[in-house]
Amino acid sequence: MKKYPLTDKDKELIALALEVLAQNFDDGIYNHTVGCAVLCKNQHIYRGVNCDGIHGSCAEYITMGIAISNGEREFDTIVAVHEKHLNCVVPPCGNCRQMLFEYCPDIKVIVNDENGNLIKVKAKDLLPFAWQPVTV
Ligand SMILES: [Zn+2]
Repeated sequence: MKKYPLTDKDKELIALALEVLAQNFDDGIYNHTVGCAVLCKNQHIYRGVNCDGIHGSCAEYITMGIAISNGEREFDTIVAVHEKHLNCVVPPCGNCRQMLFEYCPDIKVIVNDENGNLIKVKAKDLLPFAWQPVTV
């Protein structure tokens, strides 16, 4: 699995995800606990937070939905943050890994490596043997 070092733009993306989390975190009902930011290939950035509910929706899903709703189709890097996690960065859950694999397998995802250092890996490397639609 190829690992990519973080750039200044990645650090900016993390700061923007932390900012949207801080702006929307609801301590009263402990909701909106994850913030996310995605950088598109055209350098546009979109942000979102998770929405809880009976089926809930992860911040990555919300953020990708906002970006796609604004016409974006080419994605570069995505990060999700949680105030109580190591380095604040949280890896995507299995459902989000599948979504990222289907929409943009080559998007780089900021995660913590085994030593707790922030790195980037491609979404397709986060989900080996991913489900793929079968065309007949
Ligand atoms: Zn998720």
